[in-house]
Parts: sequence; structure tokens; C-alpha cells
Amino acid sequence: MSIAQQLQRLKDSLKSSDRMPVVFLGHGSPMNAIEDNDYSRSWKKLGESLPQPQAILVVSAHWMTRGSTLVNVSKMPKTIHDFYGFPDELFAQQYPAPGAPEVAQEVISLLASHHAEGDDTWGLDHGAWSVLKFLYPDADVPVFQLSIDMTKDLEHHLEIGQALADLRNRGVLILGSGNIVHNLRAMRYGSTPYDWALDFDGLFTDRLQARDHKTITDRAGLGNLLKMAHPSVDHYLPALTIAGASDAKDELLFMNDSIDIGSVSMRSFIYY
Ligand code: ZN
Repeated sequence: MSIAQQLQRLKDSLKSSDRMPVVFLGHGSPMNAIEDNDYSRSWKKLGESLPQPQAILVVSAHWMTRGSTLVNVSKMPKTIHDFYGFPDELFAQQYPAPGAPEVAQEVISLLASHHAEGDDTWGLDHGAWSVLKFLYPDADVPVFQLSIDMTKDLEHHLEIGQALADLRNRGVLILGSGNIVHNLRAMRYGSTPYDWALDFDGLFTDRLQARDHKTITDRAGLGNLLKMAHPSVDHYLPALTIAGASDAKDELLFMNDSIDIGSVSMRSFIYY
């Protein structure tokens, strides 16, 4: 089935259901936010297939905390330009969506055993707004972010998704934003993907299809392949949270199955 057919199927299936999909997007370069390219066009197309949620919870690779899981409770989250050396046009981007402090409080309760706390200092980093601006260009859906605790093991991030899964029945779209392979030290423009990038991307995809969450959260078992694909796991963790929020009855759709700059997988997936 082509992507267009699959997106149509997603659209049709959501018409008859109040249950929100869960989405993981490989965001790649911040430049995708201001470029008309295959990625930005695919996000726009996906946005046209998604329902209008009550709120969007974003787990972005770019909000890293240590020793705590924070939930942004701002009424109007600010647009954060968390990058350097990019054109002025990128720094001028704003995504003025309101926050969702009440839903954020609910998330803090759902994650009580994970010691989640409210935060009003963060806003929307580019992992969130660079894709949201294509999914929901009117910025009219309340949005808030959840941080990733870098001191926790991989399994913890899957469990966060499990703890949040019920929000899908309450009009909340859970969106993870990162990359399934992300090694910027190894990047090489205009070159073919590294074998280890293809291998990790392939393994993750295969295990996701098999609903084998044990393998994708087993740091020791993934070994060197994980270390090559993710010298730091920040861009991987949101994918695990999204896998955790899925359920066995969901359909699984993949998008953008390409490796950029040799070492960044743009692969995205949607459970619906
Ligand atoms: Zn990033």
C-alpha cells in the first residue's frame, strides 16, 4: 500500500473512532522547519489526515532533564530557538499555540509514581514546533511538553508511554519527536547511509512490527549497534515512549523511511 493510501486509511479509521493515534516523527535538521521538502510535505499531509485533538503532548528529544521528569504547565508556552548558526528566518519562527495546564496537571498525576513535576520555564523547543507547524499550521490546539529524564534506563521511557496511553481515549494526541538513528559526529553530506545506521533502523522497525519492546529497550543486548546509532540516546527515547503508548490492537504505519546525511534516520511511525 502506498503512503497516500495508508494515510487515507488512517483518516477513514479515525472518523469512526474517538481514540487518538500516537505519532513519532523523525525531525532531523531544524532547516526542515522552513524548507519545502519531502519531510515537511509529508508532515503537512499527515496533519491533513489527523483528527483535531483537545490537546497535544509532545515528548521531544530536545528537552533533557536529569533526575526528574518535568511537565510544562505554562498557559502560553514560548517558542524556543534551541540551535546556533542557522539563518535568521529560523530564529524568527513562532508557534503561538496555547498551553494546556489542566491536562499537564493530569499528566503529573498519571506519572506520580515516576515523580513527575510541573515546570513553567520551558516552552516549545524546535523538536516540537518544527513539526507542529506543518501538522497543525493554525497553532490552535493547546500544546505542552514532557521532558526526558536522561538518568533513567530505556525501559523507563517505554513505561512513561504505557502510563500515558489512556490519554488517547481522552482526546490527547501524544507526539514523540526525535530520530531512530541520530549520530551527528558521523554525519556526511551527500553520502550513502552507514551500514550500522541501516542495521539499527532495520532492527528497530522489525522489532516494532513484532511488538517486541524488550529488545528495543535492552541497552546491553543492543550493544555497540546502539552506541553507533546513538552516542547519546536523547533522540531515541521519544520513540520508546510512543511505542509504550501503543496497544496490540493498533495498526502501525511507517513514513519517511530514509537515512539523511548518512547517520540520521528520518523514519516516522504512527499507531492508530
Ligand atoms: Zn533534534
